[in-house]
Amino acid sequence: MQLLDGKKTANDIKEEIAIEVTTLVAKGGKKPHLAAILVGSDGASETYVNAKVKACERVGFDSTLVRFDSDVSEEELLSEIEKINNNLDIDGLIVQLPLPKHIDEMKVTEAISPKKDVDGFHPSNIGRMTLNSPTFLPATPAGILELLERHKVETVGKHCVIVGRSNIVGLPMSILMAQKSYPGNCTVTLTHSRTQNLKKITKTADILIVALGKAEFVTADMVKDGVCIIDVGITRVKSDKTKSGWKLLGDVAFESVKDKCSFITPVPGGVGPMTIAMLLKNTLIAAKSKT
Ligand code: NDP
Repeated sequence: MQLLDGKKTANDIKEEIAIEVTTLVAKGGKKPHLAAILVGSDGASETYVNAKVKACERVGFDSTLVRFDSDVSEEELLSEIEKINNNLDIDGLIVQLPLPKHIDEMKVTEAISPKKDVDGFHPSNIGRMTLNSPTFLPATPAGILELLERHKVETVGKHCVIVGRSNIVGLPMSILMAQKSYPGNCTVTLTHSRTQNLKKITKTADILIVALGKAEFVTADMVKDGVCIIDVGITRVKSDKTKSGWKLLGDVAFESVKDKCSFITPVPGGVGPMTIAMLLKNTLIAAKSKT
C-alpha cells in the first residue's frame, strides 16, 4: 500500500508557486491577490478560511478577508462581490460556503466574475470544464487529479466509482475522470443515496473516490484487493485523546481498508491540503492571465 500523501504533495506545490511568485515580482509584476468572504462565525468555515489566508501568506500572495455577520442581506453581499469583481488589484475571489439560509448560494456563485472564480464553481467555468476547455477547475477535484498524477496512478481504462454527486466534488470528478486525458480515460460510475446495491458496485472499483460525508462509511468488505482509494470526507467527531477534544475522520474506515489498497489517501493529510494548494494554483493562473 502506498499512501497518497496530500500534505507533502501540497507543500511541494506551494513551494513551486512561491518560486513563481518570486519570479513574477522580480520581473516587475504584482503579487497575486486572493479575496475571501466569510459570512457568520461557523467554526469549520472559520478554520477553512483562516487556513486559506495563511496559505496565501506562505506563498507570497496578498490576501483580503471580508467578514459579514450572519444576518447580512443578500443585497449587501452581492454588492461587495461586485466591488471585488471591479477591483483590478484582486485576482481571485472565494465566498466560503455554506451561507445562511436566507441567502441564495447559486445567486452568489453566479455573481462572482468567472475570471476571478478561483473555486471553479461558476456555471460558465463548470461548462468549460465539461467541454475540456481551459478554465479554473473546482479545487477539490483538481487536487485529486494532481494527487493521482504526481503519484503516477494508472487510470486509463480503469473503472472509477464515485460515491456522492455534489456539485463541488462528486459530479465534477465524474466528468474529469471520464475525460480523454491523464488522469482520466476511466469508465466512470457515479453513485448517490438512491443507488441500489452500492457494495456490489464499489467492489468492482479500480479507483474509488468517496465524498458523502459519513464517517468510516466504506469498510473492507466493500472494496476489492488493489483498489486505489481517494477519501474526500471530513467529519469532526469528539475525542478524549486529542488536546482540542475532537478529531477528523474520513468517509473510509482507513485502518481496516488500507491493507487491501494499492494507494489510499489519509484523513487528515490527504485531499484537504490539496484543495487549498489548488485554490492557490488557480489564483496564480488568474493573476498571470492579466499580465
Ligand atoms: P454533500 O452533502 O453535498 O453530498 C453528499 C453526497 O453523498 C450526495 O450526492 C448524496 O446523495 C451522497 N450520499 C449520501 N448518503 C449516501 C449513501 N448512503 N450512499 C451513497 N451516497 C450517499 O457533500 P460534499 O460533496 O460537499 O462533501 C462530502 C464530504 O466531503 C463531506 O465530509 C465534506 O466535509 C467533505 N469535503 C472535503 C473537502 C476537502 O477539501 N477534503 C472539500 C469538500 C467536501 P444524494 O445526492 O442522493 O443526496
